[in-house]
Amino acid sequence: MEMTGIDQVDILIIGGGVVGCAILQALTSYDATVALVEQYPDVCEGTSKANSAIIHTGFDARPGSLEARLLAEARQLWPEVIARLHIPYLQTGALMVALSQQEQSTIVREITPKAEANGVSLQPLSRSEILEAAPYVNERVVGGVLIEGEGVIDPFWTTRAYCEHALLNGAQLFLGERVNAIEVETRRLLVHTTSGRVFSAALVVNAAGLWADEIAHLAG
Ligand SMILES: Cc1cc2nc3c(=O)[nH]c(=O)nc-3n(C[C@H](O)[C@H](O)[C@H](O)COP(=O)(O)OP(=O)(O)OC[C@H]3O[C@@H](n4cnc5c(N)ncnc54)[C@H](O)[C@@H]3O)c2cc1C
Repeated sequence: MEMTGIDQVDILIIGGGVVGCAILQALTSYDATVALVEQYPDVCEGTSKANSAIIHTGFDARPGSLEARLLAEARQLWPEVIARLHIPYLQTGALMVALSQQEQSTIVREITPKAEANGVSLQPLSRSEILEAAPYVNERVVGGVLIEGEGVIDPFWTTRAYCEHALLNGAQLFLGERVNAIEVETRRLLVHTTSGRVFSAALVVNAAGLWADEIAHLAG
Protein backbone atom coordinates (compact mmCIF):
# COMPACT_ATOMS: atom_id res chain seq x y z
CA MET A 1 0.00 0.00 0.00
CA GLU A 2 1.26 3.52 -0.86
CA MET A 3 2.35 5.20 2.42
CA THR A 4 4.35 8.16 1.09
CA GLY A 5 3.62 11.43 2.86
CA ILE A 6 1.99 9.73 5.81
CA ASP A 7 3.50 10.12 9.29
CA GLN A 8 3.46 6.68 10.89
CA VAL A 9 3.36 6.19 14.66
CA ASP A 10 2.19 3.46 16.99
CA ILE A 11 0.10 5.81 19.13
CA LEU A 12 -1.21 9.28 18.28
CA ILE A 13 -2.66 11.55 20.95
CA ILE A 14 -5.08 14.29 19.93
CA GLY A 15 -4.96 17.30 22.28
CA GLY A 16 -2.07 19.04 24.04
CA GLY A 17 -3.72 19.88 27.36
CA VAL A 18 -2.57 18.51 30.70
CA VAL A 19 -4.29 15.18 30.05
CA GLY A 20 -2.80 14.63 26.57
CA CYS A 21 0.68 15.71 27.63
CA ALA A 22 0.62 13.51 30.76
CA ILE A 23 -0.46 10.52 28.66
CA LEU A 24 2.24 11.32 26.08
CA GLN A 25 4.87 11.37 28.82
CA ALA A 26 3.63 8.12 30.36
CA LEU A 27 3.64 6.35 26.97
CA THR A 28 7.29 7.21 26.33
CA SER A 29 8.17 4.56 28.95
CA TYR A 30 7.02 1.89 26.50
CA ASP A 31 8.65 0.51 23.38
CA ALA A 32 6.34 2.42 21.02
CA THR A 33 6.53 5.49 18.79
CA VAL A 34 4.24 8.19 20.14
CA ALA A 35 3.16 11.59 18.84
CA LEU A 36 0.76 14.34 19.86
CA VAL A 37 -1.18 16.73 17.62
CA GLU A 38 -2.49 20.03 18.95
CA GLN A 39 -4.61 22.50 16.99
CA TYR A 40 -3.12 25.63 18.57
CA PRO A 41 0.46 26.96 18.15
CA ASP A 42 1.46 25.72 21.63
CA VAL A 43 0.46 23.14 24.21
CA CYS A 44 -1.75 24.24 27.12
CA GLU A 45 -3.93 26.66 25.16
CA GLY A 46 -7.23 25.07 26.25
CA THR A 47 -8.83 24.60 29.66
CA SER A 48 -5.50 23.52 31.17
CA LYS A 49 -4.10 27.06 31.08
CA ALA A 50 -7.07 28.86 32.60
CA ASN A 51 -8.20 27.08 35.74
CA SER A 52 -8.01 27.60 39.51
CA ALA A 53 -4.72 25.68 39.79
CA ILE A 54 -5.83 23.73 42.84
CA ILE A 55 -4.38 20.32 43.65
CA HIS A 56 -7.52 18.94 45.22
CA THR A 57 -7.52 16.41 48.05
CA GLY A 58 -10.98 15.21 47.09
CA PHE A 59 -12.29 15.82 50.61
CA ASP A 60 -15.81 16.53 49.35
CA ALA A 61 -16.02 13.87 46.63
CA ARG A 62 -18.74 11.24 47.01
CA PRO A 63 -17.09 8.41 48.97
CA GLY A 64 -16.62 5.33 46.81
CA SER A 65 -17.04 7.27 43.55
CA LEU A 66 -14.53 7.12 40.70
CA GLU A 67 -13.65 10.75 41.42
CA ALA A 68 -12.87 9.96 45.08
CA ARG A 69 -10.73 6.97 44.12
CA LEU A 70 -8.75 8.85 41.46
CA LEU A 71 -8.18 11.86 43.73
CA ALA A 72 -6.92 9.55 46.49
CA GLU A 73 -4.51 7.91 44.04
CA ALA A 74 -3.42 11.33 42.75
CA ARG A 75 -2.64 12.48 46.31
CA GLN A 76 -0.02 9.73 46.48
CA LEU A 77 1.43 10.53 43.04
CA TRP A 78 1.70 14.33 43.14
CA PRO A 79 4.73 14.74 45.47
CA GLU A 80 6.93 12.59 43.21
CA VAL A 81 5.66 14.27 40.00
CA ILE A 82 6.15 17.76 41.45
CA ALA A 83 9.71 16.94 42.53
CA ARG A 84 10.68 15.13 39.31
CA LEU A 85 9.31 17.78 36.93
CA HIS A 86 10.30 20.75 39.19
CA ILE A 87 6.75 22.12 39.13
CA PRO A 88 6.08 25.26 41.19
CA TYR A 89 3.72 24.21 43.99
CA LEU A 90 2.49 25.82 47.20
CA GLN A 91 0.90 23.73 49.95
CA THR A 92 -1.40 26.57 51.02
CA GLY A 93 -4.15 24.52 52.59
CA ALA A 94 -7.73 25.64 52.02
CA LEU A 95 -10.12 27.34 54.36
CA MET A 96 -13.80 26.48 54.27
CA VAL A 97 -15.79 29.00 56.26
CA ALA A 98 -19.38 29.03 57.51
CA LEU A 99 -21.25 32.35 57.54
CA SER A 100 -24.23 30.96 59.48
CA GLN A 101 -25.03 28.22 62.00
CA GLN A 102 -26.76 26.34 59.21
CA GLU A 103 -23.57 26.35 57.09
CA GLN A 104 -21.57 25.34 60.16
CA SER A 105 -23.92 22.42 60.69
CA THR A 106 -23.43 21.35 57.04
CA ILE A 107 -19.65 21.37 57.58
CA VAL A 108 -19.94 19.27 60.77
CA ARG A 109 -22.69 16.85 59.69
CA GLU A 110 -22.03 16.40 55.96
CA ILE A 111 -18.62 17.61 54.86
CA THR A 112 -16.49 16.38 57.78
CA PRO A 113 -17.75 12.74 57.67
CA LYS A 114 -17.33 12.75 53.87
CA ALA A 115 -13.73 13.96 54.24
CA GLU A 116 -13.04 11.28 56.86
CA ALA A 117 -14.45 8.61 54.55
CA ASN A 118 -12.12 9.91 51.84
CA GLY A 119 -9.10 9.76 54.16
CA VAL A 120 -8.67 13.55 54.33
CA SER A 121 -8.32 15.21 57.71
CA LEU A 122 -10.04 18.52 58.37
CA GLN A 123 -9.02 20.78 61.23
CA PRO A 124 -11.99 22.54 62.91
CA LEU A 125 -11.42 26.26 63.49
CA SER A 126 -13.29 28.74 65.66
CA ARG A 127 -14.36 32.18 64.45
CA SER A 128 -11.47 33.88 66.30
CA GLU A 129 -8.89 31.40 64.97
CA ILE A 130 -10.07 32.05 61.41
CA LEU A 131 -10.07 35.83 61.76
CA GLU A 132 -6.63 35.78 63.34
CA ALA A 133 -5.12 33.57 60.62
CA ALA A 134 -7.06 35.14 57.74
CA PRO A 135 -8.17 38.70 58.62
CA TYR A 136 -9.55 39.19 55.09
CA VAL A 137 -12.38 36.69 55.71
CA ASN A 138 -15.93 38.06 55.99
CA GLU A 139 -16.54 39.22 59.58
CA ARG A 140 -19.84 37.32 59.70
CA VAL A 141 -17.85 34.04 59.82
CA VAL A 142 -19.03 31.74 62.63
CA GLY A 143 -16.50 28.90 62.19
CA GLY A 144 -14.97 26.62 59.63
CA VAL A 145 -12.32 24.05 58.79
CA LEU A 146 -8.80 23.99 57.41
CA ILE A 147 -8.11 21.38 54.73
CA GLU A 148 -4.35 21.15 55.11
CA GLY A 149 -3.67 18.93 52.09
CA GLU A 150 -4.98 21.38 49.46
CA GLY A 151 -2.44 23.36 47.43
CA VAL A 152 -1.91 25.33 44.23
CA ILE A 153 0.25 24.36 41.27
CA ASP A 154 1.40 26.11 38.10
CA PRO A 155 -0.93 24.55 35.50
CA PHE A 156 1.01 25.76 32.44
CA TRP A 157 4.33 24.56 33.85
CA THR A 158 2.77 21.17 34.66
CA THR A 159 1.52 20.67 31.10
CA ARG A 160 4.72 21.95 29.49
CA ALA A 161 6.92 19.85 31.80
CA TYR A 162 5.03 16.65 30.92
CA CYS A 163 5.40 17.54 27.23
CA GLU A 164 9.09 18.47 27.38
CA HIS A 165 9.90 15.32 29.31
CA ALA A 166 8.08 13.28 26.66
CA LEU A 167 9.99 15.03 23.85
CA LEU A 168 13.31 14.32 25.59
CA ASN A 169 12.24 10.66 25.67
CA GLY A 170 11.64 10.64 21.91
CA ALA A 171 7.98 11.62 21.50
CA GLN A 172 7.00 13.82 18.56
CA LEU A 173 4.89 16.98 18.82
CA PHE A 174 2.91 18.55 15.99
CA LEU A 175 1.55 22.02 16.78
CA GLY A 176 -0.95 24.03 14.74
CA GLU A 177 -2.49 20.80 13.41
CA ARG A 178 -6.26 20.64 13.77
CA VAL A 179 -7.68 17.15 13.31
CA ASN A 180 -10.61 17.33 10.90
CA ALA A 181 -11.09 13.74 9.70
CA ILE A 182 -10.42 10.23 10.95
CA GLU A 183 -10.60 7.10 8.80
CA VAL A 184 -10.95 3.89 10.81
CA GLU A 185 -9.38 0.93 9.02
CA THR A 186 -8.94 -2.65 10.25
CA ARG A 187 -5.43 -2.32 11.66
CA ARG A 188 -4.89 1.43 11.78
CA LEU A 189 -6.53 4.82 11.91
CA LEU A 190 -5.72 7.59 9.45
CA VAL A 191 -5.91 10.97 11.14
CA HIS A 192 -6.12 14.02 8.86
CA THR A 193 -5.43 17.62 9.82
CA THR A 194 -6.53 20.88 8.20
CA SER A 195 -2.98 21.50 6.88
CA GLY A 196 -3.26 18.32 4.80
CA ARG A 197 -1.08 16.19 7.06
CA VAL A 198 -2.00 12.52 7.52
CA PHE A 199 -1.00 10.35 10.46
CA SER A 200 -1.29 6.58 10.47
CA ALA A 201 -1.59 5.13 13.98
CA ALA A 202 -2.45 1.73 15.44
CA LEU A 203 -4.02 3.51 18.40
CA VAL A 204 -5.44 7.02 18.80
CA VAL A 205 -5.98 8.63 22.19
CA ASN A 206 -8.75 11.22 22.32
CA ALA A 207 -7.52 13.85 24.81
CA ALA A 208 -9.29 16.78 23.15
CA GLY A 209 -10.93 18.07 26.34
CA LEU A 210 -14.15 19.94 25.64
CA TRP A 211 -13.80 18.99 21.97
CA ALA A 212 -13.54 15.25 22.73
CA ASP A 213 -17.08 14.64 21.45
CA GLU A 214 -16.13 16.12 18.06
CA ILE A 215 -13.13 13.80 17.80
CA ALA A 216 -15.27 10.82 18.82
CA HIS A 217 -17.80 11.84 16.17
CA LEU A 218 -15.04 12.04 13.49
CA ALA A 219 -14.12 8.45 14.36
CA GLY A 220 -17.73 7.37 14.02
C1 LIG B 1 -12.83 27.72 35.65
C2 LIG B 1 -12.15 26.37 35.83
C3 LIG B 1 -11.45 26.11 37.00
C4 LIG B 1 -10.86 24.87 37.19
N1 LIG B 1 -10.11 24.65 38.32
C5 LIG B 1 -9.45 23.49 38.49
C6 LIG B 1 -8.62 23.30 39.61
O1 LIG B 1 -8.48 24.18 40.46
N2 LIG B 1 -7.96 22.11 39.74
C7 LIG B 1 -8.08 21.13 38.77
O2 LIG B 1 -7.45 20.07 38.92
N3 LIG B 1 -8.87 21.29 37.69
C8 LIG B 1 -9.53 22.45 37.52
N4 LIG B 1 -10.30 22.63 36.41
C9 LIG B 1 -10.40 21.53 35.45
C10 LIG B 1 -9.14 21.39 34.58
O3 LIG B 1 -8.71 22.65 34.10
C11 LIG B 1 -9.47 20.46 33.41
O4 LIG B 1 -9.98 19.24 33.91
C12 LIG B 1 -8.22 20.14 32.57
O5 LIG B 1 -7.52 21.31 32.20
C13 LIG B 1 -8.66 19.38 31.33
O6 LIG B 1 -7.51 19.11 30.57
P1 LIG B 1 -7.63 18.48 29.14
O7 LIG B 1 -6.23 18.16 28.70
O8 LIG B 1 -8.62 17.39 29.16
O9 LIG B 1 -8.30 19.63 28.26
P2 LIG B 1 -7.64 20.91 27.51
O10 LIG B 1 -6.62 21.59 28.33
O11 LIG B 1 -8.75 21.74 26.99
O12 LIG B 1 -6.88 20.22 26.29
C14 LIG B 1 -7.55 19.73 25.16
C15 LIG B 1 -6.70 20.13 23.95
O13 LIG B 1 -7.23 19.50 22.80
C16 LIG B 1 -7.01 20.36 21.71
N5 LIG B 1 -7.90 19.99 20.62
C17 LIG B 1 -9.26 19.97 20.63
N6 LIG B 1 -9.75 19.60 19.45
C18 LIG B 1 -8.68 19.37 18.65
C19 LIG B 1 -8.55 18.99 17.29
N7 LIG B 1 -9.61 18.75 16.49
N8 LIG B 1 -7.30 18.84 16.76
C20 LIG B 1 -6.21 19.07 17.54
N9 LIG B 1 -6.28 19.47 18.83
C21 LIG B 1 -7.50 19.61 19.38
C22 LIG B 1 -7.36 21.73 22.30
O14 LIG B 1 -6.83 22.79 21.53
C23 LIG B 1 -6.73 21.63 23.69
O15 LIG B 1 -5.43 22.16 23.74
C24 LIG B 1 -10.94 23.85 36.20
C25 LIG B 1 -11.63 24.13 35.01
C26 LIG B 1 -12.23 25.37 34.82
C27 LIG B 1 -12.96 25.63 33.54
